[in-house]
Amino acid sequence: PEEEEVVDYVFKIVVIGDSAVGKTQLLGRFTKDEFYFDSKSTIGVEFQTRTITLNRKRIKAQIWDTAGQERYRAITSAYYRGALGAMLVYDITKRQSFDHVARWIDELRANADNSIVVMLMGNKSDLAEKRAVAAADAVEFAEEQGLFFSEASAFSGENVEGAFLRLLEEIHGVV
Ligand code: GDP
Ligand code: MG
Repeated sequence: PEEEEVVDYVFKIVVIGDSAVGKTQLLGRFTKDEFYFDSKSTIGVEFQTRTITLNRKRIKAQIWDTAGQERYRAITSAYYRGALGAMLVYDITKRQSFDHVARWIDELRANADNSIVVMLMGNKSDLAEKRAVAAADAVEFAEEQGLFFSEASAFSGENVEGAFLRLLEEIHGVV
């Protein structure tokens, strides 16, 4: 068997948001630097991990994926249990996915710890010509709600690393 990796912290992060916004692809990009052209192959994976070093501490990010449950509103409170961070994803080309962000925040407030650090993430920034959500609207909403905000593209990889690292740094600041 593989030897247990020695780390200073394990940070559980949940990825939430409407179906098809790119949650699974963001996870694959951050943990493996991959984009899955056949994304069905990833269904059923509970979480993926990546260990990084912050301020000389080894931090294992344990990032949980909904694996399609968002379609049936079947995410249980166990999914949120112990989560220190949340990546709340919408698709910048799908207005509805942004309009639903408030519902996801309600879901977080009902199920997650009060101190959870939340990053609002506008994914698919590579599809700028199809943009349906202005970055300025998302910035304003994030400020009102006390969330961090970024846009990224799981497809091109742009800013995925930056957004996850920012979230991990913010969690590191509160633990
Ligand atoms: P999930 O249901 O939120 O997990 O969404 P997936 O990760 O399965 O992605 C849904 C669809 O959007 C798939 O066809 C992906 O290939 C596509 N997709 C995901 N991220 C991006 C992105 O950054 N840019 C583009 N153009 N397509 C993306
Ligand atoms: Mg998925």
